Amino acid sequence: MDDLDGNAMGGLMQEIFGVEMTTAIETCAHCGNAAVVAETAVYLRGPGAVMRCPTCTNILMVVVRRQDMHCVDMQGIASLSPAGQTA
Ligand SMILES: [Zn+2]
Repeated sequence: MDDLDGNAMGGLMQEIFGVEMTTAIETCAHCGNAAVVAETAVYLRGPGAVMRCPTCTNILMVVVRRQDMHCVDMQGIASLSPAGQTA
């Protein structure tokens, strides 16, 4: 279908976190898999942007834009580390 990779969310995440995040390492709260954000699966066709674990398809992050605010749900991520750092 329309699944993209984490690069599709790079601009949005940069807006939210203020730094380049596509090279950050996320750890899935469900399966414990660590992956570079750019390698996650991203779906943009819902009401918001959804990022899923490439291993178990657990929802890692949901970002919904509401007026001028971003609502970020990161319950599916155990840790998120900038590139070059370990979790
Ligand atoms: Zn997972």
